[in-house]
Amino acid sequence: MGRLVIAANWKMNIGPSEAADFVMRLRPGLEAIGGVKKIVCPPFLSLPTVAERLKDSEIGVGAQNMHYETSGAYTGEVSPPMVRGLCDYVIIGHSERRQHFGETDEMVAQKVTAAIAIGLKPIVCIGETLTEREANEEQLVVQRQLRTAFREVRSLDDMIVAYEPVWAIGTGVAASPADAQSIMEFIRGLLQEDFGSSARDLPLLYGGSVNADNVGSFVSQPDIDGGLIGSASLDPDGFVALTQNAVAAYS
Ligand code: PEP
Repeated sequence: MGRLVIAANWKMNIGPSEAADFVMRLRPGLEAIGGVKKIVCPPFLSLPTVAERLKDSEIGVGAQNMHYETSGAYTGEVSPPMVRGLCDYVIIGHSERRQHFGETDEMVAQKVTAAIAIGLKPIVCIGETLTEREANEEQLVVQRQLRTAFREVRSLDDMIVAYEPVWAIGTGVAASPADAQSIMEFIRGLLQEDFGSSARDLPLLYGGSVNADNVGSFVSQPDIDGGLIGSASLDPDGFVALTQNAVAAYS
């Protein structure tokens, strides 16, 4: 439906001393693949190196998080202008931020608003925990997360949403493509209610134990336009193969 996007979330891996070499190995393979927007999200310290190495390429670069305030007494935090100075995208509300660092729906909403205000393209992550899924609350949860995060959003231009069931992230147990499609159809329906037909063009990504072998079964679903990839993005050749397989299967 939307445009195919494959985004790599390196998480807390590939520091500045490894990043240049990693990108040199990744870049030629990714550049040879058309028909897909590729985005790489390194940790903050590696962002300058990766951004510099990719500045004349079509491969997008993103941060994995940021604060919503522009500056001030927020020890250890990174502001929207600092991120904007280096890259175009920012992951917001990843479940690891919510789980380990106490990020609330409210904070996610403030970050989304701050990102848009400064011209960053947010990749907004939503998804239910195992407990919530077992209680059949996944629709309620994603609806609450999505509608709060998009509270101040006026246009879907340059927005990306990643549906990532928490129980599937880093576990090796992906959702079934049919289950993912079912909830992602629901998510697109919510966006359609709130934003009209432009929801059809919004890239809606699935994340959670996607690899080169299973990516095709996800992106061939009608409401899945790509993936947010963690572990499988840490091997350059494997990530290129995954991206190729996504392009081949995207419908
Ligand atoms: C992620 O980091 O968003 C993710 C989906 O991780 P993994 O692919 O390792 O499950």
